[in-house]
Amino acid sequence: MFLGAPGCGKGTQSAIIAERYSIPAVSTGSLIRENIKKDTPVGREAKDIIARGELLPDEVVLRMLLERLGEKDCESGYILDGFPRNLAQADMLAGQGIELDAVINIVADDELICERISGRRVCPRCDASFHITDKKPKQDGICDICGSELIIRADDAPQTVMNRLRVYHEQTEPLIGYYAEKGKLINVASQKKVEDTAALIAASLEKFLD
Ligand code: AMP
Repeated sequence: MFLGAPGCGKGTQSAIIAERYSIPAVSTGSLIRENIKKDTPVGREAKDIIARGELLPDEVVLRMLLERLGEKDCESGYILDGFPRNLAQADMLAGQGIELDAVINIVADDELICERISGRRVCPRCDASFHITDKKPKQDGICDICGSELIIRADDAPQTVMNRLRVYHEQTEPLIGYYAEKGKLINVASQKKVEDTAALIAASLEKFLD
């Protein structure tokens, strides 16, 4: 599981590790955005909550996640990105008999987070994430994966980011202690270059799982 503040690079790094281990990266944020795009009942409920930078109700996200984890491609393992996001969700996951092998905590201070988020550009079609200087797409403003025009995520607006950071510190950060106590935590300092962070994660994960 990947843990860290919004914009720390969880999505980017979980995709890299997923490819390395040939297992899917499951992002609850992506699942929710998919529901918003499809205008499902959950999507309609989520729209305002996401725009405010708050968290969706735990049961709603858990249900969505379990449905996704029940799909065939998750049979031999998966990487979680964005779940659990608070202690209640961590307990819910354990209650489902799901035990995490390792929790990678990407460490980045608020200043770096703000710089990352202000330069983030995302694909509205496939949810891939880029950055105007740190992870440039091959062609300016165009998604490398599906060719769509990149946009700024609605919840990356400065006001929402402040609230997302507050929610992170209040609700998500306690998970660091929770997983440290279980002996599952790997801390990795976010590096300027995506590939440098990826190399650190791969090395510490291999050592940890050995
Ligand atoms: P992310 O793409 O992980 O930054 O998630 C975007 C937004 O989706 C968050 O700011 C929350 O509003 C919502 N979200 C994602 N994961 C969860 C979760 N596990 N529990 C509640 N809300 C979530």
